[in-house]
Amino acid sequence: MDYQPSEHRYEQMVYRRCGKSGLLLPAISLGLWHNFGSVDDFSVATDMIKFAFDHGVTHFDLANNYGPVPGSAEENFGKILKQHFQCYRDEMIISSKAGHEMWSGPYGGNSSRKNLMASIDQSLRRTGLEYFDIFYSHRYDGVTPVEETVQALIDMVKQGKALYVGLSKYPPAQAQKAYEWLQAAGVPCLVSQYRYSMFERAIEEESLALAHEYGSGFIAFSPLAQGLLTNKYLHGIPEHSRAARSTGFLRLDQVTEERVEKARSLDNIAACRCQTLAQMALAWALRDERMTSVIVGASSVKQLSDNLQALANLSFSEAELVQINRILQE
Ligand code: NDP
Repeated sequence: MDYQPSEHRYEQMVYRRCGKSGLLLPAISLGLWHNFGSVDDFSVATDMIKFAFDHGVTHFDLANNYGPVPGSAEENFGKILKQHFQCYRDEMIISSKAGHEMWSGPYGGNSSRKNLMASIDQSLRRTGLEYFDIFYSHRYDGVTPVEETVQALIDMVKQGKALYVGLSKYPPAQAQKAYEWLQAAGVPCLVSQYRYSMFERAIEEESLALAHEYGSGFIAFSPLAQGLLTNKYLHGIPEHSRAARSTGFLRLDQVTEERVEKARSLDNIAACRCQTLAQMALAWALRDERMTSVIVGASSVKQLSDNLQALANLSFSEAELVQINRILQE
């Protein structure tokens, strides 16, 4: 094992308590949805995990279907853990999820007990882990009774396969049912995961307050709107960007002139704060203390490094918030 983590790794990171639990999460977590699959450069992936850990990022977010190919992000992460992090498992929070399409047939992609129980075993095998710190229901599938999904999550904890459970993208009515069911079983929902960024603010209506009311922490995914809230698309679509890659989930038609124009105006405010647009977008997503953490993605160590510097200035003046809102509402 050649890798020696930095002795100073906990000095710069901000940690926030996850809801009413005893668990602290880093304000910036790293997600492995893109750039960690079998189509990606394994050495860049390894460097990003090391860099993150060296800078206090203790939380790594996976799902069974991350890749491509589906499952390969978990496999690659497992290899990186085995090669470099065996002594550091107790310093890491590793999450995974199940509920989206993963294998063929009627059991491979929903929120049934059948899918969840098979999925967690598969994910443990792929990563080589003995347990996940957090296991999520990846989505409410519109059909499976919430009670069935939630009971599967409770049983995972009872079987020692997960320490905590979480919900991802649940509509408020189903989230409330799940919070109540989990609480009654003595396995409260640790964290609720939803899309949130300057461009996607739906959770401000209900989901954030609801999670808080039930003592759940909150974690935002795609806080940079998959790269739209960085300087990446300000002057066209770069060749290797997520929008240009055939395996990327950011479609070209999502890179609209309207969004790029807003990003340009936001970039001017960021410059006045001595931040990059990405840093300001992350600080903005973290401005509410109920937001435990934001999960960023990155395709290079340089991006990750840029993003972590958001922590140097997390506060906003009233005037800045008004200016930002004006741009977003234009
Ligand atoms: P972001 O919004 O942070 O987008 C990340 C992408 O933005 C990078 O891959 C990179 O794209 C670009 N980028 C990041 N930093 C910079 C920078 N400093 N300068 C320029 N470009 C930058 O998050 P993701 O959409 O990747 O989502 C993050 C995580 O959230 C996922 O990995 C996953 O763990 C979780 N998630 C959960 C979901 C759920 O259903 N629960 C759904 C989606 C995500 P490029 O490749 O173009 O360089």
